[in-house]
Amino acid sequence: MGMSTGFLKYEKRTSEALEPLERIKNFNEFHIALSKEEQMEQGARCMDCGVPFCQSGMMIGGMVSGCPLNNLIPEWNDLVYHGNYRAALTRLLKRNNFPEFTARVCPALCEKACTCSLHGDSVSVRENELAIIEEGYDNRIMQPRKILNRSGKKIAVIGSGPAGLAAADQLNSRGHQVTVFEKDDRAGGLLMYGIPSMKLEKHIIKRRIDLMRTEGVEFRMNEGISGKKQAEKLLKDYDAVVLACGAAHPRDINVPGRNGKGIYYAVDFLTSTTKALLDNFLEEGTYISAKDKNVIVLGVETPEMIVWVQL
Ligand SMILES: Cc1cc2nc3c(=O)[nH]c(=O)nc-3n(C[C@H](O)[C@H](O)[C@H](O)COP(=O)(O)OP(=O)(O)OC[C@H]3O[C@@H](n4cnc5c(N)ncnc54)[C@H](O)[C@@H]3O)c2cc1C
Ligand code: SF4
Repeated sequence: MGMSTGFLKYEKRTSEALEPLERIKNFNEFHIALSKEEQMEQGARCMDCGVPFCQSGMMIGGMVSGCPLNNLIPEWNDLVYHGNYRAALTRLLKRNNFPEFTARVCPALCEKACTCSLHGDSVSVRENELAIIEEGYDNRIMQPRKILNRSGKKIAVIGSGPAGLAAADQLNSRGHQVTVFEKDDRAGGLLMYGIPSMKLEKHIIKRRIDLMRTEGVEFRMNEGISGKKQAEKLLKDYDAVVLACGAAHPRDINVPGRNGKGIYYAVDFLTSTTKALLDNFLEEGTYISAKDKNVIVLGVETPEMIVWVQL
């Protein structure tokens, strides 16, 4: 534990969001990161609990408490406090394949479980994680690993969402030759075409895919796997096949008027916008536009569908 009184000395601080009128000027992430010194102070707030509830991901009454990845949180909080970002990155990568994704989109169950939050604010675990991984990229500590021992085994991973990418990363690091098949034109699954850019800019995903390519993972885009023939070929050509196809079927509702005009599933709406943004910066009208429309969204917690009423 770096500073025994850190949680008393420093208030919790997190990155500030740009004003709404500023953020609507583009589609980028809109939080201004703390300085390195400010982030170190946040690391100092960790009490290095004897029982670190933050890192002990467990099911309680059917719900998860703490980090499902069992991230080594108190260890890297302390290393952030000491400004030893290199060692912090090593500890972070022990449990987490893609901290640059989780540090942006994870709901931070660690912070909800943090002992500090019993009588005040939790430690800013998620932003400490973000600082560590981005420092790693900025200073070129994040480099492609050299996989020295190859097993000679070939593995096909179907689907390039976070599940497929994590499986590919683990298997490749163990020396297997991994090929990822993806039916879309870009890798990332819902990271790419579900979660909007303002929360996860897409060059962050590309940066990781490029790294994995350099480490030896092959990505075959626009190659959806379907049918018995293709399945049999994969089973013949590869030693193992991993299915990581996600759960793309939206939940429909059966109500009068459901077949009316202008009703879309949320993911179709989001996909069309992000794709058009990346392909042609929304200049060719190839997306579902909600401009000047009155919009009703059904399903706020889980955005399964969006209903758009044209008046
Ligand atoms: C709008 C939205 C916002 C979200 N926000 C968050 C958030 O803030 N934080 C969070 O933790 N989670 C969030 N999620 C949930 C998160 O995105 C998903 O839990 C996660 O992406 C699931 O990962 P996956 O790899 O299992 O599946 P997916 O991401 O769905 O990836 C599956 C991939 O498999 C491909 N595929 C499917 N079938 C085939 C086939 N036959 N051949 C080849 N490829 C195939 C698909 O094209 C897709 O790329 C959000 C989801 C949505 C929709
Ligand atoms: S529960 Fe909070 S204070 Fe305790 S070790 Fe985890 S992050 Fe630090």
